[in-house]
Amino acid sequence: MTNNEVAVGIDLGTTYSCVGVWQNDRVEIIANDQGNRTTPSYVAFTDTERFVGDAARNQAALNPVNTVFDAKRLIGRRFYDSTVQSDMKLWPFRVIGDHADKPKIVVSYKSVEKQFSPEELSSMVLLKMKEIAEDYLGKKVKNAVVTVPAHFNDSQRQATKDAATIAGLNVLQLLVEPTAAAVAYGIDKNLTSSSAGEKVVLVFDLGGGTFDVSLLKIERDKFEVLATAGDTHLGGEDFDNRMLNYFVEEFKRKHRKDITGNAKSLRRLRNECEKAKRILSQNATTTIDVDSLYEGIDYSTKITRARFDDLNLDLFRSCMDTVEKCVDDAEMDKSDIHDVVLVGGSTRIPKVQQLLQQFFDGKELCKNINPDEAVAYGAAVQAATLSGEDSHKIKNLVLLDVTPLSLGIAVKGVLMAVIIPRNTTIPMSMQKVFRTACDGQKCVKISVYEGERTRTEDNNLLGEFVLSGLPPAPRGEVEFTVTFRIDANGLLNVSAENEDTGLKNGIKINKRGMLTKQEIDRMVTDAEKFKAEDEEFRRKIKAMQEFENCIYNMRDESERNYELETSIKKMISYSFKEAIKWLEANPNAEVYEYEYKKQQFEAICNQLIPGIAGIRIEEIE
Ligand code: AMP
Repeated sequence: MTNNEVAVGIDLGTTYSCVGVWQNDRVEIIANDQGNRTTPSYVAFTDTERFVGDAARNQAALNPVNTVFDAKRLIGRRFYDSTVQSDMKLWPFRVIGDHADKPKIVVSYKSVEKQFSPEELSSMVLLKMKEIAEDYLGKKVKNAVVTVPAHFNDSQRQATKDAATIAGLNVLQLLVEPTAAAVAYGIDKNLTSSSAGEKVVLVFDLGGGTFDVSLLKIERDKFEVLATAGDTHLGGEDFDNRMLNYFVEEFKRKHRKDITGNAKSLRRLRNECEKAKRILSQNATTTIDVDSLYEGIDYSTKITRARFDDLNLDLFRSCMDTVEKCVDDAEMDKSDIHDVVLVGGSTRIPKVQQLLQQFFDGKELCKNINPDEAVAYGAAVQAATLSGEDSHKIKNLVLLDVTPLSLGIAVKGVLMAVIIPRNTTIPMSMQKVFRTACDGQKCVKISVYEGERTRTEDNNLLGEFVLSGLPPAPRGEVEFTVTFRIDANGLLNVSAENEDTGLKNGIKINKRGMLTKQEIDRMVTDAEKFKAEDEEFRRKIKAMQEFENCIYNMRDESERNYELETSIKKMISYSFKEAIKWLEANPNAEVYEYEYKKQQFEAICNQLIPGIAGIRIEEIE
């Protein structure tokens, strides 16, 4: 990477994404083409085109089955994962499992059924964020720091990296979201260049779909994660779902009808729930009005903040349990914490703030940093640091992360032998020596797990490999060393070696849910194809608009021209009507057809009023 190659920071959120770049000694959060600083993580497919971001979200209620969101809730998970199975019940789009138990989202695109992996859909959002940055910077962007929830496991991280590769991005680092937010906080408070001394902060990050708590020590330029805890499946969408279920039941009671089978009705009601939730962060009560929600029935109802809090109280309380666990894990007392930093849109919920403040014995919470942008802000800072930015504010920045889950191998077939304990600082390498369990054993199978349970079957299997060719010997006499290496992205490599024979298996773990190289290559090609198709569609729309402008302009010109004979005006009016009729009948014509029709129309007009087409074209351009 050369120094003038720009690198951006991307917060790939469950519901919204955000991109930032370091420029003029500070971070710029980049607005999208609609002027919004966050972009919905939505992708939609229609009979004619593909939409990403605001355009996709805006048409969601009209086209619910082909509008995909929440890809982050699927990424790196198996289809039969219980969270996938329960989420599916509330999604209007269809999800199926493929032969390898990976989830696929099924949509209709250009009237053909298509299946996409969560990585592909996330790559479309990442590509949109890349393009937003490129439009703003006026140059190509290849490098990025992309954020992930601290509690994303290995396969979720790998899958996110794969998504970035498909989008044509080189990931400089996968940065965990609360650390990114802590960087934003540190820069905002000028901690990195001052002699402010050591500070311990707790980042409480409750977004659309994930929840993370991190405890960090900030000492000038060094950000060290002390402990982290969280839930990759808890956030604003769950609060929306609780409200949605509540109204579905109320509708059943009032009208004796179940709307759950109707994707459009559910989508419309869900949108209203999300809006109501936001209003309830300001007001004590709000109303929901949906015209013709189901079978022509208008639905009008009310909800109070107290009711909303009650519907979600167990979820809010579980967030506080997680905070407690994180503080305990770091062997700290809550009074040691200097600041509690709020990140993620859902931290605007008053009850969440109240419970958190209560937990910290009335301490004021830090709301200075923008909860929607802090993560992208921190990612942009780290992107600049990694690409050699010279600003004194950030050039010496060091971010030390921890492993969110313990990592180890199975021994005696069923027990978890931890090699890297949870909350160990990374990057890091650790090894342990093991012995054969049977007489004459020639090979050992290494099964790699992550999780905190004693029995491996309760933890997540990450991959397996075999070290073979061991010399025959009585049990316990042959030793082999298992090494776990975690890089700065939190990605894991495991190897096993028998030192006596020099036998080493440089094994790559076949990570759960990860895409193969061939699959990624195919998706990269597809992404380019989709981009080309989108471009082609834009060209088509432009050609159609040019033709449309041309016919309207000619008609207006002829109508304004008092010297023109009525018969000629009539002929132009006839040609105009014919052209409009053709346009209405051909909304999906090819570019050359629009261009040809435009030329024909101009030729007719030119014959009737010599020179008219030439004049108008110049004016149009
Ligand atoms: P994030 O992933 O950080 O962008 O957070 C998005 C989530 O925050 C979504 O579920 C939003 O509905 C939620 N959110 C945004 N603003 C508010 C608000 N004022 N009150 C409650 N939730 C909000």
